Amino acid sequence: MNDLSYFVRKIFDYDDFVLDSIKKVYDDKIFDVLYSLTRPSSRLYLRVNLLRSSVNDVVREIREEGYEVFRDELLEEAVYFRVEGPNKVDGSGLRVVVDKRAAESVLMGSNLYAPGVVYCERSIEKGSSVSIYSENNILLADGEALISCEEALRIRRGIFVKVYKSLFKAPPIRDLRVWERGLVYPQSLPSMIVSRLLDPRPGEVIVDMCAAPGGKTSHIYELSRGEAVIYAFDHSKKRIEEMISNLRRLGHDKINIIHGDSRYISIDHPYIKADKILLDPPCTSTGVRPKIYDHKTGDELRSLVKYQEQFIREAHRILRKGGVLIYSTCSITYDENEGLIKKFLDEKLFEEVDPEKIFREIYRIGERGADDIGVRFSPLKDLPGHYVIVLIKR
Ligand code: SAM
Repeated sequence: MNDLSYFVRKIFDYDDFVLDSIKKVYDDKIFDVLYSLTRPSSRLYLRVNLLRSSVNDVVREIREEGYEVFRDELLEEAVYFRVEGPNKVDGSGLRVVVDKRAAESVLMGSNLYAPGVVYCERSIEKGSSVSIYSENNILLADGEALISCEEALRIRRGIFVKVYKSLFKAPPIRDLRVWERGLVYPQSLPSMIVSRLLDPRPGEVIVDMCAAPGGKTSHIYELSRGEAVIYAFDHSKKRIEEMISNLRRLGHDKINIIHGDSRYISIDHPYIKADKILLDPPCTSTGVRPKIYDHKTGDELRSLVKYQEQFIREAHRILRKGGVLIYSTCSITYDENEGLIKKFLDEKLFEEVDPEKIFREIYRIGERGADDIGVRFSPLKDLPGHYVIVLIKR
């Protein structure tokens, strides 16, 4: 891997096992793939909640707030903003260093909240000009301190820096009226296609095994016009709470939300027999962009694959014969995607369904996965890296 440039190495701390797993798919394009992941896609997508509004009304409302927004060419429920950048950031202010989470939002132009601060120069007072850096020393933004450094570290809440210039810039979605009123949900295009591939119909029993914070669950609800019987599982209490608040905001009140470990649904909830399952399990998130830095080891990757395998085995148990399993990840490795699924195809537990039969235009933005298994959305096509496959229980 000697040809990975200094820049990419500074951001991606991946060991050889992880790099090889990505290389199995992207081969000599791995450098370009990793480099593209350091930037956001040029479009920031929202899904319109068609149960509550229309795309025309949402577009009109957003434009009234002063933002330019466009309809997507492929999905009628999708609209997008253009992301500005990369912009030139000056870097002449007093130094503030932020954690990864804060860095990822400041990079896109969000203000800096006090809990994200890792370090700040003690001389920073209210009104000081500051420059914000990530922990691996990437200059993200310039701004003005609204409180002193000392206060930010002491009270640990509220806005510390009002950002006026950032590397990239996108509208603040959560400040939009349409967000507040539950008319939109921020979601990438590949994620929207995942729920489209599930093709939810009224009356079907659908299990979302890893549902929080509810992005795909809420889309499934909308596509079935609120008439599918949906069980949404998650084992994180905090994330379930976030999902409840998202679903409430969207007005989706007929979803069975279950706090529990979905690897044991057949034992804990033996009454559930699914027509369709969505499995969007924890993964390395290696396809998520933009990345400021990321650390992954082969041990972490192997243990995630074992975890993912357990969910698929449980999905097989609770699915009726001929039922559909959609498996999706926001990872670009081979092992979590084609490598894992191949095992189940070889064991003849599932077979693949041609995704074009469900969503005819899928290859306008997706491409066939490695070994001809599933569909990939490539960072080289200005998308987040994503994988999805439609399986049927044999
Ligand atoms: N599908 C979600 C969406 O579109 O908004 C994102 C799901 S996220 C990739 C994976 C989720 O799996 C996390 O919310 C995590 O808490 C949940 N999870 C991890 N292990 C689990 C388990 N054993 N049982 C149920 N949920 C689990």
